[in-house]
Amino acid sequence: MKRKRIRGNFATVVVTEPEPAPVPVTTTGTARAGTGAKGTAVILDGYVDEPACLGVPPSISPYIRTVAGALIDNGYSVRYHTIDQLRKEPQTAADLNNDDTLVMITGVTVPGKYLGGTPASLTEVQQIGHLFRGKRKLVGGPIGFGFASGGGQKAFRQVIAGYDALLEGEPAIALDNYLNGGEPKGTLDYTRTDPWSVGGAGIIGQHPDYPFVMCELETARGCSHGATGGCSFCTEPFYGAPKYRSTEAIAAEVAALNRQGARHFRVGRQPDILAYGAGAGEYPAPRPELLEKLFGSIRAAAPDLRTLHIDNTNPATIARHEEESREALRAIIRHHSSGDVAAFGMETADPAVIAANNLKAFPDEVFRAIEIVNEESGMRRDGVPELLPGLNFVCGLAGETEATYDLNEQYLGRVLAAGLLVRRVNIRQVMPFEGTPVYTDNTLGKYDRRFRSFKEFVREKIDLPMLQRVYPAGTVLKDVQVEVSGDLSFGRQMGSYPILVGLPFRLPVRTIIDAVVVDWGSRSITALPVPVMINRLPASALKWLPGIGKKKVAAVVAKRPFADPAAYRNVAGSSAIDPVLDFSTVD
Ligand code: SF4
Repeated sequence: MKRKRIRGNFATVVVTEPEPAPVPVTTTGTARAGTGAKGTAVILDGYVDEPACLGVPPSISPYIRTVAGALIDNGYSVRYHTIDQLRKEPQTAADLNNDDTLVMITGVTVPGKYLGGTPASLTEVQQIGHLFRGKRKLVGGPIGFGFASGGGQKAFRQVIAGYDALLEGEPAIALDNYLNGGEPKGTLDYTRTDPWSVGGAGIIGQHPDYPFVMCELETARGCSHGATGGCSFCTEPFYGAPKYRSTEAIAAEVAALNRQGARHFRVGRQPDILAYGAGAGEYPAPRPELLEKLFGSIRAAAPDLRTLHIDNTNPATIARHEEESREALRAIIRHHSSGDVAAFGMETADPAVIAANNLKAFPDEVFRAIEIVNEESGMRRDGVPELLPGLNFVCGLAGETEATYDLNEQYLGRVLAAGLLVRRVNIRQVMPFEGTPVYTDNTLGKYDRRFRSFKEFVREKIDLPMLQRVYPAGTVLKDVQVEVSGDLSFGRQMGSYPILVGLPFRLPVRTIIDAVVVDWGSRSITALPVPVMINRLPASALKWLPGIGKKKVAAVVAKRPFADPAAYRNVAGSSAIDPVLDFSTVD
């Protein structure tokens, strides 16, 4: 990345320009990928979010890349657009009709809020199908499981109007079958999708966030806990028993993505990364040697990668197989990038709810897993912890009572009191899907007020002190990318669950900046660009400095310029951000 100085009306800050985009090798002189011998196709990304897969910008799901590969393999030249591009640029919608074939990939089976994009609504999906005038229009992805408007709402399976076919099951295989005269149905078979994941890698060059695209990598599909029916709310058991991708295939895909300019990877498409390649049974023991090989191979395939993070990790695996899990965690942090998060689907601290919903882990198991992850990977590198647990709670499950929320609060208080680090606590209301037990047996609507007060409790009593612990004042966050520009701009690092960073400056979108933590909200932190130019900051930013605050701003402004740190300390005292202060007055 290239560093340069930009001048604002307040100061000069160092920013980093985005990496120049390499030319995607599969293009034919246009933005399209593939030869186009059989026709042209457009993939429309309505985004996906499943318990074990994320494809909302800046993430791009594996489905998009394998579908692109399948289309190219079938002789199509391929374009790619996101639903947000269509919303913002009406011309893009009109341009869709220049293609023979439309493949829309979409579906959200877990409720979420996203800074990077808004998943397609059912109305949008159907409108696009009706508006498209090409030869064939297909829709696939988790939308096949049903559609709900958000958390706490039932998802209904229904005919999606406006399309020739729904790609059932694995989208790329269903598409390939359909294009070759078969039924639009597909059962996952990595021997078919692995070559497409390589052939379709060039599609990332058309992503609006390119080259700052997080490539979601698939290592497995299906859940071992599904052997006993799975957790009552989860759609992952629909995929059956776990199927694991070979390390060689994953590494080949990463190498192809790397050649196309990808530098950010999340090994996120699997229910439990520690179970990669593990044997049969509901809670198989990790095989650390396989994780060493997997993460080492990804590093070798993309030696200049900037982000390598994980996602879902079953806390019961860690609690039941402590030694193997410790070894496996060590293997991951030997090769990953820091600031990583292992998301624990805890769901509830109420044993009665756990039993009623066949959940995977009991509270004491989750607690032990939090301790082990803290011990093995709570150390800091580049200023931030290597790898921390994140906790997911799901509310509205069968068997819930008011007391469930008391237990949840007590549990989080216990984690805090034990001095443990947790990157974030995610609280959602369940989105029941047809075919899951929670569809007919849930407590949605019964304890809404208690649900809201639980969220407030966590924001005020847990999140804030935890953020202060995880990101103490003076922590320098590298490569924060501005996503929202304003008097208070917002940015994030690339990562699995990056913290939202408020920057009290107007900074252009896509500026990349190192920033030092100066304050905390419940879900975000406030940070200032590094170095902190004390003689040039506007008063609106000065007030955020430790030791200054609103009261001392006028005194600091009156005494500027400060010649050296000692002069400044006489007014503001010492603080954790002293190492990044700069006392220059001109460029
Ligand atoms: S352990 Fe439960 S929540 Fe996780 S993937 Fe399996 S069924 Fe879903």
